[in-house]
Amino acid sequence: MSVPESDTSGWLCIVGLGPGSADLVTPEVSAALECATDVVGYIPYVARIAPREGLTLHASDNRVEMDRARAALAMAALGRKVVVVSSGDPGVFAMAAAVFEALEGQPAWQALDIRVLPGITAMLAAAAKAGAPLGHDFCAINLSDNLKPASVIEARVRAAAGADFAMAFYNPRSASRPDTFGRILDVLREVCEPERLIIFARAVSTPEEQIRTVALIDATPEMADMRTVVIVGNAATRRVGRFVYTPRSVLPASL
Ligand code: SAH
Repeated sequence: MSVPESDTSGWLCIVGLGPGSADLVTPEVSAALECATDVVGYIPYVARIAPREGLTLHASDNRVEMDRARAALAMAALGRKVVVVSSGDPGVFAMAAAVFEALEGQPAWQALDIRVLPGITAMLAAAAKAGAPLGHDFCAINLSDNLKPASVIEARVRAAAGADFAMAFYNPRSASRPDTFGRILDVLREVCEPERLIIFARAVSTPEEQIRTVALIDATPEMADMRTVVIVGNAATRRVGRFVYTPRSVLPASL
């Protein structure tokens, strides 16, 4: 078990809670949560932690990642046992990078006992439900323009599609930017054939789970929301029975 062993000094674990189901939380993450004195994170993720005596829950709004990271480090420095929670994996568009960014230029905090405990990220949970759409080379792209311009997102999608990577899109569509995903579908239509398979996997591993596979020509922006991870197959991705998979060998035609 990789939970820090010291009982006398503070520590910080940055953990992933998986996509939703309690069955997909790893035992080492559960163990860290059991010994924690403080849990820090975005409101809906902290809501997944059962309250208990001796545990203080610090839930904060989205878009305050750096404040949250600094607060967690400061508590660990005071001797608290702090768990920073993210959904999925903490290193995938989540809190681990924010904590390390907060560590930069803070030598006192760099000596702290800090660990990152992995979780099952949304694209892998979704891929497993669909079959094996990520069986060959793939990439993950965050479609949120909070931390990078829309032009960079479009350029990366175009480059990845041009290189025939399968792709997983996180944060595909939100109320504040309802049009971004429509533009991304237009980019895909410029580069990929109309039959290209796209999987819309919503609320994977929760009671609201919905997995839908359509051809690019039939995909509409409304099929995605912020609880959806979108997987775009490569040129060889195909259906077999009720499953979707990408062969492990590359097709000569796509070289
Ligand atoms: N660290 C997380 C990702 C955070 S970004 C991870 O590794 O999964 C939030 C985005 O993740 C959402 O907009 C959605 O695209 C995706 N996501 C998270 N949980 C999901 C789930 N249960 N089903 C489908 N997509 C999910």
